[in-house]
Order: sequence, then structure tokens, then C-alpha cells
Amino acid sequence: CGIIGILGNHEAAPILVEALKRLEYRGYDSAGIATVHEGKIERRRAVGKLANLSDLLVHEPLAGKTGVGQTRWATHGAPSVTNAHPHKSGPVSVVHNGIIENFRELRAELAEKGYPHNTDTDTEPVALLCHSFMDAGKTPVEAAMATVDRLEGAFALCFMFDGEEDLLIAARKGAPLAIGYGDGEMFVGSDAIALAPMTHQITYLADGDRAVLSRVSVEIFDETGAQVQRERREIRMDS
Ligand code: GLU
Repeated sequence: CGIIGILGNHEAAPILVEALKRLEYRGYDSAGIATVHEGKIERRRAVGKLANLSDLLVHEPLAGKTGVGQTRWATHGAPSVTNAHPHKSGPVSVVHNGIIENFRELRAELAEKGYPHNTDTDTEPVALLCHSFMDAGKTPVEAAMATVDRLEGAFALCFMFDGEEDLLIAARKGAPLAIGYGDGEMFVGSDAIALAPMTHQITYLADGDRAVLSRVSVEIFDETGAQVQRERREIRMDS
């Protein structure tokens, strides 16, 4: 029930897990992380406590300085490794909090186009849809924006792509999401608490916003696609 994204200068896996620990207070039944390393996304996911994910990472470590993570509180599909986030389809990986209300409609439409679902979640169609847009020739940014345009419900999302180690795309509607500014690093998190060890420079996205992040830049667009400025604040958390 929390998400995190990192464009970092250090190995991302331990920082992702640490940030997920700071989101534990929201409750969860499973957790996972993915990184992009040498152009390829790899995932590790586990049911139950974050300690299970940490144990898995000891045996099957993940390299890479770009990554996403999620603690899941299942709404659609049982808590299982298959249903755990990050979800992946083709070059696209996505973490999500909330509920995609029109997932059945998207699932049917995508199956018809040759993108059948493999999980029981409402989130997987987000990855499948973005994948289908990229197959149709859209860039990662165009594909993610077109995907978010089609979503109904409540979501905080972060997209990551094969071959893109300096790109994350975040979007929110009806669920909170913050951008954190580091020194040549950039972060996305469900709240400032998750980001506190990395940075105190925070921008809260407004409802409907989408953000395109690199290590040195953030471009924010509102629901209509117009570029907007959002206030950047110094937020200090105790602990
Ligand atoms: N609805 C999504 C799922 O069940 C996300 C749940 C959450 O917010 O953790 O996988």
C-alpha cells in the first residue's frame, strides 16, 4: 500500500527495501521491487513481511541504480507472488496503489489485441496497455501518458522501462504521490516519510498530475496535458 521509485547514484535495491519499510505502517500483504540494470528490468517479489523480500534478495540480489518498489494490500487477486507488484509486460514495469475501476474492460480489449493477462490484478492491464502503445510505436513517455488517460479509479503509479535507466514516469489520481529531489538523484514516493532518508526537498503532485523524471529534471503535466509548476518545499520528518 505504498510505492517508491528511485533514479539514484547508488545500488537501488537496499534503498528501495528501506523505503518500503518506512511505508509498512500503511499495511500490506506482499511486497516487491524491480531494477533496470544493463538495459533489462528484473524483479523480486515475496508474500508476507518485508523480511521475506530481504531474504530473497540475499539469495538472488538485484543490481542497478534505477528501481521501483511496492508494498501491496491486495484489492483484486489474492496475495501471491504472481499478483505482487511490480507488474511487467514487455519493456514496461509498473507499481500501483489504489484500484483501476475499468480493469475488466481494459483486460478484454487488450486480450483481443494479443495482450492476454497473466495475473488476477487490476494493475496488470496498466502494464499491458503501456506495452501495447509502445508496440504501436509510441515512446515510453507517450505510451505512459496515453495509458494514464485511459485509467478510471484511484491510483498512484510509477512506470519504469527496459533500456531506460534515467527515466521514471509517475502519475496520481485519488491517491497521494510525492517527488523527492536529491543531488543528481530523483525519487518518487507515496509520502514524504518514505523519502525522508533520501531528501527533504519535496513536491506533492496535485490530483491528476503526471511527472516525467530524470536524475536532474522533473516535468509535471496536469490531467489536460498542460505543463504546470508545483511548489517544492523543505519537509522535515522526525525519525
Ligand atoms: N489494486 C492493486 C492490487 O490489488 C493495488 C493494491 C494496493 O494499493 O496495494 O494489486
